[in-house]
Amino acid sequence: MRKKGRKEKLNRLANIHVLQLSIILFLLIIIAVVVIVARKVIISDGQAPNFEAEIEQIGNSDDSEKEGDTTNLENQTSTENETNTTDTVTVSNNLTLLDDWQIRLVNRENPLSDDFTVELENLDASRKFDKRAIGPLNQMICDMRDQGIKNIWAQSTYRSIEYQKGLYEKSINKYLKQGKSQEEAQKLTDEYINKPGTSEHHLGLAVDFNNVDEGFENTKAYEWLLENASDYGFVLRYPKEKEDITGIEYEPWHWRYVGPEHAKKMKEQNLCLEEYVLGSSLV
Ligand SMILES: [Zn+2]
Repeated sequence: MRKKGRKEKLNRLANIHVLQLSIILFLLIIIAVVVIVARKVIISDGQAPNFEAEIEQIGNSDDSEKEGDTTNLENQTSTENETNTTDTVTVSNNLTLLDDWQIRLVNRENPLSDDFTVELENLDASRKFDKRAIGPLNQMICDMRDQGIKNIWAQSTYRSIEYQKGLYEKSINKYLKQGKSQEEAQKLTDEYINKPGTSEHHLGLAVDFNNVDEGFENTKAYEWLLENASDYGFVLRYPKEKEDITGIEYEPWHWRYVGPEHAKKMKEQNLCLEEYVLGSSLV
């Protein structure tokens, strides 16, 4: 009797264990199903369509660039960096734009740190330009001269942050001597001269042509640049109709290298660098 009772007890215990295991297994299956369904919902609602949209956008713009006649120039200036950038464009357009040295945005809101350095090459005895963009600049000036525009020269190119400090202070002093207050002098200076660290001349990618004055607007050289500079990778950096966005008054003499690919897109879509890099909705 006692033996039988023990056996029954053992059987009952075993049954309870089986029941517990079944419940646990059932719960695990439910959890797994819930997780799978939840993942499907997240993927279909969010990431997938965005990726497609981005890839499509990039695909379209790349096609139009590859057919241009500036292939040689592009080859001349292409570096390992550029190749890497092209690879990552398919992942996130905006992030890659911000990483691209050609369209590095420097302005009042985005100053360079004091330790910024860039590899430069001599344009002539006193002027330097970014080593990666000096080829297109030379080629552009050469072609202008070949096409009869002899009156063209690069007046101001790379400037160190230290040199910009001197320019800025000189301008303030000029206005102070004219009897303006410190505040007025600074305001007037800010309209034309970037504060040290905020000038894109520090990048070695900006060039001021001829006498650096508004008269440049009426020259054949200016007309030629408006028409052709984008083929060489240059854009008018501070256009008249974009003063509100750039925060800099119209400068017909100041041209910026952004590479032919970006320059053509900016020209076609009539975007200044702020709009192009940050997106028009963010400016
Ligand atoms: Zn300039």
